[in-house]
Amino acid sequence: GPALLFVKTSQGKEEGRRFYACSACRDRRDCNFFQWEDEKVSETRLAAREEYNRNHQPSFTHRQNVDRYKNFVLLPLSKRRFCQECQQLLLPAEWEKHSDHQFLCNITTTQLKSPSQLLYPLENKKTNAQYLFADRSCEFLLNLLIDLGFRRVLSVGTPRLHEMIQSKASQEEEFNVRSLLLDIDFRYSQFYTEDEFCHYNMFNHHFFGGEAARETCRKFLYEENGERVIMVTDPPFGGLVEALASSFKKLMAMWRETEKEGHDNKEMPMFWIFPYFFESRILDFFPSFSMMDYQVDYDNHALYKHGKTGRRQSPVRIFTNLTPSMIVLPEEEGYRFCTVCQRYVSSGNRHCDICNSCTSKDGRQWKHCVLCKKCVKPSWFHCSNCNCCTLQKHSCEKTDVGCFVCGKAGHKRSACPSLSRR
Ligand code: SAH
Ligand code: ZN
Ligand code: ZN
Ligand code: ZN
Ligand code: ZN
Repeated sequence: GPALLFVKTSQGKEEGRRFYACSACRDRRDCNFFQWEDEKVSETRLAAREEYNRNHQPSFTHRQNVDRYKNFVLLPLSKRRFCQECQQLLLPAEWEKHSDHQFLCNITTTQLKSPSQLLYPLENKKTNAQYLFADRSCEFLLNLLIDLGFRRVLSVGTPRLHEMIQSKASQEEEFNVRSLLLDIDFRYSQFYTEDEFCHYNMFNHHFFGGEAARETCRKFLYEENGERVIMVTDPPFGGLVEALASSFKKLMAMWRETEKEGHDNKEMPMFWIFPYFFESRILDFFPSFSMMDYQVDYDNHALYKHGKTGRRQSPVRIFTNLTPSMIVLPEEEGYRFCTVCQRYVSSGNRHCDICNSCTSKDGRQWKHCVLCKKCVKPSWFHCSNCNCCTLQKHSCEKTDVGCFVCGKAGHKRSACPSLSRR
């Protein structure tokens, strides 16, 4: 889909030069599209680009994949193969072509219902950054939104949540929640129909399936028979908040426009799952949002998953425009309700009487600094040179430009402490 317009700034200069680059890939090695805003592109180069794009289309369309799936499920177990190299369900006629590839046999219906386990996660940080929810977090999210009365979930970049909903819906008679998955990972089109999955880019709000896919999404957002919709999204953490926010606002607008009178001033309910250090960025774009203390855990993330014994702290949180007091967090995991703040907080998050709020962001108990007039991380101390609280080990000189990732001064994006662990 459309490229994004970026600006190259160099220190000291007011205006930088603007250029277009791929919206989805943050690494030039994944997509090297680059064009100065004012650049004239020759016919030859345009033609070469189109040629390249033609040669890089998926081997089957979504429609073809749906048909293939229908044929696949008719096969006896012994003939159901999945090529691990091509990440593709194989029909017997195609075995030959994949004969020197690794494949899985006897693909069961259960496996087909959990594609996120069958497909390998695309972990490359700069593009897909596919980190799957741990079951516990996924169940928590699903139960939470059911308890809140939602019956439809727009799953944007949350294939595992989508999968849990789909598989419960097919197994449990009285389970009446529906989900539509929007994701850039086209491999999922092998497992879901056009009504269940749209190939979508959340950095530029592009539906690869065109108007028909847009219409599917629009229809899904239309709250028939009082079935309330919530959007749940878990974007790659390296992604530009600005671009994401702009797409999410478009999805919200789509929701608003489905209802003639109903939603005048209301926002589509949303859970945006993202690390806590992006709080101020998200609030810049969505002032109605607040950050919940719940720590979202992942399966395939070495650092963000909880261990067998004491769990590691995950920095990933839920941002939502729903009333915080309604988001009930599990007491058995140590969360408690703060009556002053009117929201559930981590066990380590103590209410600070001076700030008049539960101030911890990372789950540890923070301490109040009278000089900074706010609570700070337990490991920080007040540096009279810098005139603020910071790490014991720091160099007192500051750079003026804030980090692109967390917005804080003192370091560049490449050295951002919040990202180095990813
Ligand atoms: N925790 C979620 C997965 C989050 S990982 C779960 O378990 O369901 C991020 C997801 O966003 C992946 O599924 C990835 O394919 C998708 N994604 C990455 N870039 C995207 C883009 N530009 N547009 C849409 N989806 C994208
Ligand atoms: Zn193959
Ligand atoms: Zn409190
Ligand atoms: Zn305080
Ligand atoms: Zn201080």
